[in-house]
Amino acid sequence: MDTLDGWFPYPNYRPYQREMLETAAACARDGGVVMIDAPTGSGKSSVVSALLSERDGRKVVVAVRTISQLNTFIRELELVRSKKPGLKVAYLIGKRMMCPLAGEGNIYRKCEGVKSFSMALMRERAQKGSLVPSKDPVIRQQIQKMDAEHPLLCPYFINSRIFLDTEKGPKIFPSTMLRTKSERVTTERVWPQDLLGMSGSVCPYEMMLHAAQKADVILLNYHHLFHDEIRDQLYASLGITPSEVCLILDEAHNCGEVMQGIQSVSLEETSLEQARRELRGLRRNMKGIDAVHHVLPRIDAFMEGLKISHETEDWFDPAIFERMVVKESLYPDISSIVDDLMHISEGIRESNMKAGDFRETAIENLTEFLFRITQSSSDPSFLTVYRREEDGIVLEVRNIDPARKMQEMAVMHHACVLISGTFSPVESYRKYYFEDLPVTICSLPNTFPRENRMLLCAGDITTAFSKRQDKHNLSLISQYITAFSRVKGNIAIYFPSYQMLELFSRDIRSGSADKRLFVESKDSGEARELLNEFLRLPRTGRSGLLLAVCGGKWSEGLDYRGELLNGAMVIGLPLAPFNRVRQMVIDYFRHKFGDEGEFISYTLPAMNRAQQAIGRVLRTPEDRGILVLGEKRFLERRIHDRLPAWMRGEMQACDIASFREAIARWR
Ligand code: SF4
Repeated sequence: MDTLDGWFPYPNYRPYQREMLETAAACARDGGVVMIDAPTGSGKSSVVSALLSERDGRKVVVAVRTISQLNTFIRELELVRSKKPGLKVAYLIGKRMMCPLAGEGNIYRKCEGVKSFSMALMRERAQKGSLVPSKDPVIRQQIQKMDAEHPLLCPYFINSRIFLDTEKGPKIFPSTMLRTKSERVTTERVWPQDLLGMSGSVCPYEMMLHAAQKADVILLNYHHLFHDEIRDQLYASLGITPSEVCLILDEAHNCGEVMQGIQSVSLEETSLEQARRELRGLRRNMKGIDAVHHVLPRIDAFMEGLKISHETEDWFDPAIFERMVVKESLYPDISSIVDDLMHISEGIRESNMKAGDFRETAIENLTEFLFRITQSSSDPSFLTVYRREEDGIVLEVRNIDPARKMQEMAVMHHACVLISGTFSPVESYRKYYFEDLPVTICSLPNTFPRENRMLLCAGDITTAFSKRQDKHNLSLISQYITAFSRVKGNIAIYFPSYQMLELFSRDIRSGSADKRLFVESKDSGEARELLNEFLRLPRTGRSGLLLAVCGGKWSEGLDYRGELLNGAMVIGLPLAPFNRVRQMVIDYFRHKFGDEGEFISYTLPAMNRAQQAIGRVLRTPEDRGILVLGEKRFLERRIHDRLPAWMRGEMQACDIASFREAIARWR
């Protein structure tokens, strides 16, 4: 029964859910691109059932950004499996998380190295008749002798392979243990934290990769999918082409930023110094090193020159960079330097691999950076930027427009369904990602009970630059914070920047006696511990006030269900800091989209951050809470008219007096 009903794992559809799933199913059947804007509670995860019902032998690939999104789909697919027991699922979340040998450095490189050493030894032993590498005494002895900190062989990989005698000599295959475990993992629910335990002595990544070959659904992290090289390799090892895949991109409002990050490349002062050391070490053994070596002080001088600037981030002219770097060198242009560097990189990589050093070298980083600089001169979707950081100047070739790559990715797959709870206005995201590519849009209303929420917008405060020093405005913001702190139970206040968070947290520390304060830490580990403490409070009958940054660690991808969070207030419009780089980005998009370009490149991400932050409160239909936008710009038509329909319909404008009254009335 390959119908939507046959795959849908719940007794009933939620309001509008069937319409959404039918749109997704049609995309899986006919191909194309669909963007689904569906608020929390719409049942978006069931899109996977819709694609399964119409996939016609294709694989369904779901790309997620976080482990909590991955777990959501593992849970959903477990339910689907109760209806379709034969369903096979696998996931690949990156070797850093999956590899038992992952330590410092680039695990992909390390893996490549230990696998090639292991393969060479296994083959050698197989030629001598030892077909089961894990039982071969020579291999076992070598593993025992290995330095655990710097392994040259991978015992997990060795346990994952076996040789069989063929007419053409020994041929390598997945071991029986790997095949048995792969089979098990596709048909049982295995959480990511249990994966290492379950894989035992075989490689968890190899196990999942093998499982993925037979799986109907594969869950991937964004990186696996968005990185051309990684995706090509992955699909090749699965024996599929993109046209044999129906794709789901979860929380797709993040795709643009991730895609840009993958295409950007940075060069730090410390990395340049390291490249210099690496080149010095190669002088004796490799020709042509001196010419490149003389170029490095020129890049150093360029970085040094930038230190007189007071900006923390600014644009630099790639033509000046090129002139300065090439001047007095033996090279006519940067492309020629890149050619030599590529040759050197290749050599150094090979010799390092032979010596068991699998780290990415600084020379490779330098090569990549200079290569991108040459590309950026003819491609306006790349900007050359420098940043001032604690360790010195960082040069970056930054991608500012994900559209080309997003379109390539959408078109190469049979079907591509993007889902998000904050895709509003979805038409702007469509333009931003796909320009003129035909896209079907599906926008759903908020179906949670309206009486469970109150949405207020302060009409008398702002964090607009012109009012940041205005005493009256700052005093009013403090009054809003004090009034909001009186809401019962756990609540959160989000600020547009760490700077503003620090500014107001000083006042709050002295003013809020009955709630425990939790201030977002820049350190991830500490932030995680603090958040766990905050979430434990309701069980102890106490409550806390969470102070965080919009777009930070506590504002997205977390489910604060029930009593865990009774209200959230966003102070200001969380726009990215304005500087020359931002202006250039806006100009680029103005040129592309006219007036709407500024909205798409500057205001849209800020609106999304605010919606994500207040969206933490109401995660189930039973949750109740107060949502506050502490910024009068949300009442201006250019922003107000682009908010989701439920927000436009329910938002009550207030001043500090009516805000206090509304807070006092809320039960
Ligand atoms: S083969 Fe597997 S266990 Fe070995 S290094 Fe690679 S990912 Fe890690």
